[in-house]
Amino acid sequence: ATPVAIMVGNGIGAKSGILFKNATALENAGKTKIVALDKTGTITSGKPQITDVFTTSDTSKENLLNIAFSLESKSEHPLAKAVIAYCEENNCEKSDVTEFSAVIGNGLLGKIQDKIYYAGNARYISEKINVDEKSLSLSKELAAQGKTPVFVSDENMLLGIIAIADVIKDESAYAIKELEDMGINVVMITGDNENTARAIGKIAGVDNVIAGVLPQGKERVIGDLSQKGNTLMVGDGINDAPALTKADIGVAIGAGTDIAIDAADIVLMKSNLKDVPAAINLSKKVLQNIH
Ligand code: ADP
Ligand code: MG
Repeated sequence: ATPVAIMVGNGIGAKSGILFKNATALENAGKTKIVALDKTGTITSGKPQITDVFTTSDTSKENLLNIAFSLESKSEHPLAKAVIAYCEENNCEKSDVTEFSAVIGNGLLGKIQDKIYYAGNARYISEKINVDEKSLSLSKELAAQGKTPVFVSDENMLLGIIAIADVIKDESAYAIKELEDMGINVVMITGDNENTARAIGKIAGVDNVIAGVLPQGKERVIGDLSQKGNTLMVGDGINDAPALTKADIGVAIGAGTDIAIDAADIVLMKSNLKDVPAAINLSKKVLQNIH
């Protein structure tokens, strides 16, 4: 593209909150064959909320929430924010936590009054304790509804499951349809479990779902996709930065984290997924029509 075309393209983009950080991004976005979307905060609002609280064994709901509140208060994860907001609203108690540690893509652990507690996904908690069939099937049921089940346990047994749901942004399904109509392959990549991810994918119109991916794994998945065709990755979180760098085009969406914005080639100011097809179309115009 000519320098004038680049300038005009940049101007049009900026007006709709689509910022191309370099001329190459503006020239190459139009060549995209595959769009990989992060789930939480990209397809969904990223502001999940607690929908159900289930206790197992003879643990009280108060005790379960007290432990979850105490552990999650040490975490910055969107799921943690959902727990904190709910517990503050319901005046739950919070205890001191020592020896806290976050296991990225899995969950948390910490000591409360001489006992170690865990909060996280089924895979992580199953490594610590024996999870009974009834709880596993409850968790699958919740996941089929698009909810993320957070397991809470001590060192010996499951204390309960907290279901957390994140709504799909209004425009996500529309934007995904638009991309597919353009002949682009859309893929969802998430650290969340397979069943929840598929349920969200179904509502959003994405069949191709890659779930249970740890943060390092997202980068590898993008590397594999790039082998098949020009891959554009859209994400918002710290976890997504390596994958955004690895993609042919990295797109940071919305208020996102500074780290994601740094790693990206394109920044979408409005957190609207419709700006992804818009950016691709603008790039095509820059290459073809504007002289
Ligand atoms: P995503 O790709 O959706 O942004 P992450 O990689 O951040 O997901 O996390 C993957 C999974 O790890 C979550 O769906 C959750 O099951 C578990 N997890 C991560 N952090 C926490 C936390 N603070 N509390 C409970 N579970 C967590
Ligand atoms: Mg995310």
